[in-house]
Amino acid sequence: MRVAIVGAGVIGVTSAFTVKNAFPSYDVKIFADAFSPDTTGDGSAGLWGPIYLGDTPIDNITRWAGCTHQWFEQLWKAGLSSKTGVSLLPVTRVTSDYKDDIDPKWAKLVYGFQEITDEKIQRLNEEHKSNYKQGWNFITYTAEPVLLLPWLMEKFIALGGKVEKRKIRTLDELAEEGYDLIINCSGLGARELVPDKTMTPIRGQVYRVKAPWALHCFIADDESCNYIIPNIHSVVLGGTHQEGDFDYFVREEDSKHIYDGCCRIMPSLKTCQIIRSWVGLRPGRPQVRLECETLNSPMGKEIKVIHNYGHGGSGVTLCWGCATDVVEMIRNLKVQELNSKL
Ligand SMILES: Cc1cc2nc3c(=O)[nH]c(=O)nc-3n(C[C@H](O)[C@H](O)[C@H](O)COP(=O)(O)OP(=O)(O)OC[C@H]3O[C@@H](n4cnc5c(N)ncnc54)[C@H](O)[C@@H]3O)c2cc1C
Repeated sequence: MRVAIVGAGVIGVTSAFTVKNAFPSYDVKIFADAFSPDTTGDGSAGLWGPIYLGDTPIDNITRWAGCTHQWFEQLWKAGLSSKTGVSLLPVTRVTSDYKDDIDPKWAKLVYGFQEITDEKIQRLNEEHKSNYKQGWNFITYTAEPVLLLPWLMEKFIALGGKVEKRKIRTLDELAEEGYDLIINCSGLGARELVPDKTMTPIRGQVYRVKAPWALHCFIADDESCNYIIPNIHSVVLGGTHQEGDFDYFVREEDSKHIYDGCCRIMPSLKTCQIIRSWVGLRPGRPQVRLECETLNSPMGKEIKVIHNYGHGGSGVTLCWGCATDVVEMIRNLKVQELNSKL
């Protein structure tokens, strides 16, 4: 069985590794025009937390996110933090709306989830000159893609997986080369490749700074969208979420918004050392697409495609759960194939 994976971002690399690991005899090859450290996840802090996922059914989100959280826990407990970039982190998340009076669906997936008292919210509002209405404290993981991706890629290659740097124009191109199964993890690239015009960039600009005293993650789900996420050697300050915006260049006004907003939340950041500014385009979609499709190539060959793209602001959060479903889909395809031969 020859399997082509399109994409070497966090979704492509986790899919490639889990498929090769589950089916060692398969010939699995990744095709991509960008690899780490040049994929969308590489500039992100890799915080676990479902966000910007459109109308993706909540049960799918919690299943994929829960599975990924367990994987991070295994990496953490195995003492692989320095290699994989997985850290355990206290998080405060506040919002300016009353979302609902019940906990978010993912509350049970993290550790020590607690609603912040009204008194504490008022105190934060005075300190931050903000208008938060509700908030939660909990502990979860960050998995820095810039460390996680090379680590996992090395494991994939050690299993016999192959890699080629190449832009794929159409999926037929791979069908014509004799691949039996294509796993499409092209992120925003699916806009042209499939083509799927429901794919929309959600532009995110961040600073990466040195501030070793920042040990707590703070996320403001308000109109500022400011956040402070410590990683192992640096801290990510954000952010923006500009839908439909394809601009990869750093903008001065966004830099000012991020710096001023994060210093308002944590004044000690005024003395941080800026390492770099970065822009990434989150692969937004009305819903994550994780499904199997049968295509007929121009040569008349039937070919199976598993689409795994459109993870918005949560690719790191969902990656392992989605990759596990890809393996399950291949198992089901094999059963169907056997049944059709009986
Ligand atoms: C500022 C910012 C902060 C973020 N923070 C977080 C966070 O804290 N937690 C979290 O979970 N998520 C976060 N995200 C979202 C996360 O980064 C993305 O959801 C994730 O990286 C998407 O991964 P992907 O593999 O689908 O896409 P990508 O990383 O974009 O990878 C797509 C791959 O497909 C390849 N490709 C595309 N088209 C073709 C083609 N035609 N031929 C060959 N190759 C092709 C590309 O070269 C690339 O290798 C953040 C994103 C941004 C921008």
